[in-house]
Amino acid sequence: MSEIDVPGCHFCDEVRGRTTEAPRAFCDESFSVFVGRYQPTGPGYALVVPSWHVEDLPALPEDLCGPMLRMARRTSVAVQQAFGATGTTVLQNNGKPGQSVPHLHFHVIPRRPGDGYPRRAETPVHVDELTRQATILATALGNPAPRPRPRAGLS
Ligand SMILES: [Zn+2]
Repeated sequence: MSEIDVPGCHFCDEVRGRTTEAPRAFCDESFSVFVGRYQPTGPGYALVVPSWHVEDLPALPEDLCGPMLRMARRTSVAVQQAFGATGTTVLQNNGKPGQSVPHLHFHVIPRRPGDGYPRRAETPVHVDELTRQATILATALGNPAPRPRPRAGLS
């Protein structure tokens, strides 16, 4: 993965703790998982992103396609287990008009019978509730104390 940090990029800023709108549930040298503020189906909505700037799926190095999908799968399983979802919808957009943040991200949306999906969440969830959900998801992901961990050789 190209080891690029783009200040001002929403997810680069989240990975490095320059903003805290979306509490982190997981972070290693390759991938980070956040709890999203606008939750279309209730608690457990997660975003899986590379820990370094990659604009979209076509820009992801081929050797990281497998690991990225494994992280999305792992998050999907954790979301189901931790938030009582009966399933998930995993989706990903590339370029306009679908991609709102130009940093590759997979949406992991918890699904429950009668949840009304697809729909947009109009109101952001309070940060205290997001933090609570991030703690639960971190435990489900086996990462109870998530923190940024830069790749070896970088400061
Ligand atoms: Zn970025």
